[in-house]
Amino acid sequence: MDFAAIDKQISALEACIDSTVEVTPGEQLSVGVDLGTAYIVVVVLNAAGSPVACAMEFAQVIKDGLVVDYVGATRIVRRLVQQLEERLGRQLTHAAIAVPPGTGHKDSNTHRHVVEGAGLEVTAILDEPTAANAVLGVQNGVIVDIGGGTTGLSVIEDGKVTYVADEPTGGTHVSLVLAGSYRISFTEAEELKKDQDRQREILPVVRPVIQKMASIVNRHIEGRDISAIYLVGGTCCLKDFETVFEKETGRPVYKPANPFLVTPLGIALNC
Ligand code: ATP
Repeated sequence: MDFAAIDKQISALEACIDSTVEVTPGEQLSVGVDLGTAYIVVVVLNAAGSPVACAMEFAQVIKDGLVVDYVGATRIVRRLVQQLEERLGRQLTHAAIAVPPGTGHKDSNTHRHVVEGAGLEVTAILDEPTAANAVLGVQNGVIVDIGGGTTGLSVIEDGKVTYVADEPTGGTHVSLVLAGSYRISFTEAEELKKDQDRQREILPVVRPVIQKMASIVNRHIEGRDISAIYLVGGTCCLKDFETVFEKETGRPVYKPANPFLVTPLGIALNC
């Protein structure tokens, strides 16, 4: 696995949050929409599969992988798409989306309707680990996706997902612990958590939550031949998250430069 190439690709996407790469008229663009518990992210790639634009918004319209505010979700996706269209000077027409593994047909269709209601034709519905693996290219190991609401894990054997699990512990719990410890609001805790300069200070406070996440992973991979753990999802952005995980699981842990953007990028790569 070429970790440096993966990090380069993700850094290029990160740069597209603030700036837009010019596209040639008529060039085929691929779009990925990630409807998350904490963030809705839209990624646009050019014909070569390189990122050209990215927009996101904090949102609480999805819970445990299910759409709980259909109108709100559609409005946000439409707003992000319009923003990207203005930046690119082009209309976006179709997109791929992803749902947590094990999501039923009916619930997947609700995700589809949100994105179609925002004006994009949905060309593919993936499960999240498969999307993440379009970037990582794991052949054997476990992808652990820790987002806002859940810790999801997918065992990959010979490049295929062979086992999945999803449990309700995520970044929201990290923020709740911080809010309680520092006696601040949830919103302030979210900000504190993302402040790079204070992540070393907060680690002792949030370590038990990370240990809990690692114990969930341990429980699911017990007795399996897992050579490495690959971390994705926004919560893994926490400094030294991987060090705690490595200690608790006793396995090598790989964390990309920006784990938050792996799944959104992988979704767009499947458009
Ligand atoms: P889910 O996967 O549960 O549906 P989601 O897709 O919205 O949720 P992500 O976008 O992967 O999840 O991650 C969101 C979580 O990551 C939030 O709890 C957010 O506070 C946290 N997060 C984002 N950036 C950082 C950061 N730099 N440091 C720490 N936590 C972060």
